[in-house]
Amino acid sequence: MFSGIRETAARQALVLPRLAKLASRPPQCLLIEGGSAQERLDMARYWACVLNCENGHDPCGSCQSCLQIADNAFNDFLLIDREEDEKSGKKKQDISIESIRELLPVWGQPPHGRGTRVTVVVEAQHLNGNSANALLKTLEEPRPGNVFVLTAPQRERLLETLVSRSWVITLSWPTQLSNSPEVSGWVDSMLSFWRSGQGWFEKSSAKGALDKELAFMIVNGCQRELINALRDPQSSRPADAMAGLFDAKGLRRLDLVLSKAQESLNYNVNPALVLDWVCTAAMPRRR
Ligand SMILES: [Zn+2]
Repeated sequence: MFSGIRETAARQALVLPRLAKLASRPPQCLLIEGGSAQERLDMARYWACVLNCENGHDPCGSCQSCLQIADNAFNDFLLIDREEDEKSGKKKQDISIESIRELLPVWGQPPHGRGTRVTVVVEAQHLNGNSANALLKTLEEPRPGNVFVLTAPQRERLLETLVSRSWVITLSWPTQLSNSPEVSGWVDSMLSFWRSGQGWFEKSSAKGALDKELAFMIVNGCQRELINALRDPQSSRPADAMAGLFDAKGLRRLDLVLSKAQESLNYNVNPALVLDWVCTAAMPRRR
């Protein structure tokens, strides 16, 4: 449905002029970070519409190209995503190298239509070493008529070599920039656990303290401070504390742990167990 794309584009209106400007000479690879996963995918579709709409670079939402892109039915719009495991129906951990390789012949051909073929790597942080390198090779070759989009929560989650080849578009965060007092309290407990090994378990083990919704908010809150810690540690007190506790490697490990935690929460693992695991798995090593 194009209406979903339109709503997201309206919420992310700040980046639209930049996309319109880029459309006259589209970069080979666009990296869309920030926002939510759904918003990133919507904006990738919006970009495909910009490049393929039959009525110019301001997507009309009603021509065949726009409608087909919105419905995944457009010949020149390709999605690379993690495959689903046949038994469990869950998405696999990695984007496989095969999913890159099988498209090589397609990228060698000009697009079907008069526009530009857009290939989106959905949540590219799930590329593994092999598939990331295969993609990198692809980006190193000229692919006339093709452009690529990577979506990811934040650029730090991707190989530096992929980021340096990409034009980065940053969406605004879906919710308020700072954490609610309740979430802040939990994030503070995590920080004090990482500092002293104390102050977490008595909080998380209190009966009924954590439900899935709150656990998600705490993980997101922690991610938010992590991004601040990477970008601008002085921007908030928890971010500053985080930057002081972890070295670069530790921050990267925390990032991976948090995204694993999100996945576990999605699969309905007990929220207190998930967060206890975050605390111990991300524990900073002694310097
Ligand atoms: Zn259109």
